[in-house]
Amino acid sequence: MSRIVALAGNPNCGKTTLFNKLTGASQRVGNWPGVTIDKKVGKLKGTPDTEIVDLPGIYSLSPYSPEENVSRDFLLDSRPDVVLNIVDATNMERNLFLTAQILDMQYPTVIALNMMDAVEKQGDVIDVEGLSKKLGCKVVPISALKGKGIDELIAAVNEAKDPATPMELDGRIEQSIAKAQDLIGDKVDHAKRFYAVKLIENDERVNEALPEVKDALTGEITTLENELEDDVDAIIADARYNAIGEITSASVKKAPRETNDTVSDKVDRIITHRILGLPIFILIIGVLFVGIIGFGDFTGIGTYLTDYVNGYIEETIQPNVADWCAENDVSDPLTGVLVDGIIGGVGAVLGFLPQMACLFLALCILEDIGYMARIAFVMDRVFRFFGLSGKSFIPVLVGTGCGVPGILASRTIESPRDRRITAMTVTFIPCGAKLPVIAMIAGALFNNNGLIALYSYIIGIVVILMSGIILKKFKGLSGKPAPFIMELPPYHVPMWFNVLKGVFDRTWAFVKRAGTIILLSAILVWFFGNYSGSFEYLGDIEGSMLESFGEAIYGLFQPLGWGDNWELTVGSITGLVAKENLISTLGILFGEEVSDEGEEIWGLLAAVLTPAAGLSFLTFNLLCAPCFAAIGAMHRELGTWKATGIAVAYQTVLAYFVSAIVYVFVSLVDGTSVNAGGWVMAIIGIALLAYFLAMKDPLFFIRKNESEEPQ
Ligand code: GDP
Ligand code: MG
Repeated sequence: MSRIVALAGNPNCGKTTLFNKLTGASQRVGNWPGVTIDKKVGKLKGTPDTEIVDLPGIYSLSPYSPEENVSRDFLLDSRPDVVLNIVDATNMERNLFLTAQILDMQYPTVIALNMMDAVEKQGDVIDVEGLSKKLGCKVVPISALKGKGIDELIAAVNEAKDPATPMELDGRIEQSIAKAQDLIGDKVDHAKRFYAVKLIENDERVNEALPEVKDALTGEITTLENELEDDVDAIIADARYNAIGEITSASVKKAPRETNDTVSDKVDRIITHRILGLPIFILIIGVLFVGIIGFGDFTGIGTYLTDYVNGYIEETIQPNVADWCAENDVSDPLTGVLVDGIIGGVGAVLGFLPQMACLFLALCILEDIGYMARIAFVMDRVFRFFGLSGKSFIPVLVGTGCGVPGILASRTIESPRDRRITAMTVTFIPCGAKLPVIAMIAGALFNNNGLIALYSYIIGIVVILMSGIILKKFKGLSGKPAPFIMELPPYHVPMWFNVLKGVFDRTWAFVKRAGTIILLSAILVWFFGNYSGSFEYLGDIEGSMLESFGEAIYGLFQPLGWGDNWELTVGSITGLVAKENLISTLGILFGEEVSDEGEEIWGLLAAVLTPAAGLSFLTFNLLCAPCFAAIGAMHRELGTWKATGIAVAYQTVLAYFVSAIVYVFVSLVDGTSVNAGGWVMAIIGIALLAYFLAMKDPLFFIRKNESEEPQ
């Protein structure tokens, strides 16, 4: 039987760094609390029969977040042989709170006192022997970053076999805990003290597991609350902090700080300033985006590379494969699916890879330096006002490059409701693939006015913030945004291995998706766009199933001002494969060869659409269901196809009504006429929005069960 070592500690205390040192693995280290969410397993170097499980970073073992539940369930149910508790020695008081709960479980425990290099640099002295005696378990000073003390730590882990001694709390509380332990008797065969404390703390999950003990304890708890005049969980937390305070003040000698105002503090004061923080951030991001994407006549580096790749696919790969097919007598449908379906569809998406990689590189560097955590802090003020947390902002930011990594980035949000809402709304922000569509509408109807691009981002942000208010009213998503307790990690120069690994991981996730879901959907859309209803190969969209479908449903979009142009409807559908597909589809449908931004069909669009209708067409395509790749990513984060379906329906319905409102409003300003359907949909849209925004709890979705989610 192999030994199992559970690695537990606070967020950002160096757990992943240590895990990599202990196992020789190369997990990504994040200068951003919450990078590790799933537990990861590796083998202890030199002792292959010992497994290390890297648990998510947590502040306590109370069930406040999914990470805490993962860790708690693992510690209680999987019965590790040793718990390796990693403690940030520069921040002992806070870190030892988790330690106190771990000691209660009475597993053999070893404490890795990490960041000793930083402690020494500050001139502090820690009496490790004394600390070890007071905590009742082995303490090993280490520096995971510098690789110091690792061998001693491995030896201590291999030797550990005696259960740890729990941290002793005030007399009155100890009495109650002893009583609870008696009542529990042999109902649980391990972690008895942990259960006892949890029962006194009124922890729902333990109460449910031991209802009779809970009932028998009610009197004891009331007495305790009356005597000490507070809630039990607060009493116990207080007692723990007292015990921790005594332990640390006895074993840590802090050197006098020269100033309590470090360079980092000074920088933070400017960067996270109430008023300056936001403009500084916009400036930094603006410079990055201009450098990567471009501005006016200036082509950014990412755009340059992406243009190059797209050009290579269109001008070299596709013609060569087509020629090869012709020479080898490959049938027309097969050539079509290969050249236009697979290479065209997947290529269109992969073409964005260089641009994405550049964007990821910039974001990973900002993250590794420690700036991302500050941005979240600045944006928290804005987002909180709309019922979202500042952490939702990072995914949105990533989503401006591509919705897929944007949605995946919502993982770093601890609160399940914030995480789900973010995953559902990230794609409202225009991603890179929507930029050509924006350019097309701006060129065709607005004389290339740059304000159309600005409008696209603003409507995206407005709809995200509005959704924050609306979605919070639905069951399962309700409640206040989680308190923003993320602390600001220290600044440091980027570690290139780490940055490059981050870029590689995210880019690779995208490539994998291109090979699976995007490939499949590209083939499907090609099939429906090239075959008639009787499965006859046409080689063209005219007469195809896709055209019939567009003709059948275009009436739905007449209220948005799209007239009887079924082409626009079909274009929107092919946009589901990749948003920039929309342009090539319109090109095919209007019978023109088109380039990237579709200059060739600008005149045609201008002839069939008023500016208001053009804006409504753009708005709908920006906000409606995202591409299949992003839908796939939403499914990964939301967990079920049902939830994914609801999210996609929400996005599409919202897109529809917002577009109707935009159409009617702009037409009025413009003095162009609006059809009756437009009026009806705009009024319904305004009524619905007003209802969901203003109502405290919409009647038909009231939360039935308040206790369903922890506060
Ligand atoms: P986790 O969130 O607990 O997994 O922590 P990480 O391993 O991701 O590390 C968080 C940050 O602390 C990173 O910036 C690491 O470089 C840094 N770090 C980790 N160990 C040490 C150490 O021993 N000394 C110092 N000075 N920094 C460390
Ligand atoms: Mg980690």
